[in-house]
Amino acid sequence: MFYHWSYLVLIPGTLLTLWAQNNIKSTYNRYSQIPSTMGMTGADVAGTILQQMGITDVSIEPIGGQLSDHYDPNAKAVRLSQGIYNSTSLAAAAVAAHECGHVLQDKQGYSFMNFRAALVPAANIGSNLGPLLVVGGIFLSTMGAISALIINIGIALFLGVIAFHIITLPVEFDASRRALNLIDELGILQGEEHRGAKAVLQAAAWTYVATAFYALLQLAQLLLMASRRR
Ligand SMILES: [Zn+2]
Repeated sequence: MFYHWSYLVLIPGTLLTLWAQNNIKSTYNRYSQIPSTMGMTGADVAGTILQQMGITDVSIEPIGGQLSDHYDPNAKAVRLSQGIYNSTSLAAAAVAAHECGHVLQDKQGYSFMNFRAALVPAANIGSNLGPLLVVGGIFLSTMGAISALIINIGIALFLGVIAFHIITLPVEFDASRRALNLIDELGILQGEEHRGAKAVLQAAAWTYVATAFYALLQLAQLLLMASRRR
């Protein structure tokens, strides 16, 4: 990448991202040390929730990596990382319940979730190609109209990335809200333990906010860099 003063607008986004990553790490570390009174593992929590909700066609599988937990709507599988699957901690209960929140979204045809899934290819293409086309278009500025067209296509692609990160926010917040309700309703955590689960899910939510904020600043940066040339 070449240097341009507009990259400075990314600094607050970088700072928020670093803070959010550090915050989820320390919150997760803290609450992954505290076992729940009920002593249910992440896999138990997910199994109990799915059973209580009458969901029989979704499997619960362990996967490698740390905090790689997710729900795969195509495979109908809740995949839990080792640190969650086998752990009886408050963090494990929170994360397992959160992924079940996504299962319920899927079952109920929660529209934001489908919309988000539809945006995944656009976001994957746009996150690299968008900025590349804007920079490329600027380098080709002697070519006039073609340069402007390339820049505009780059920005349009990046708008798909923004849409993806913005729509991710209600999907994630809703899954966590469902998770905390289920944890209470089904008595998975007791009293004060709820707060630990909430802290973990809130810290995770901040990472999504930071990512969306960074993407918005990236868009501002691209527009600033391009404005001189169009
Ligand atoms: Zn999620």
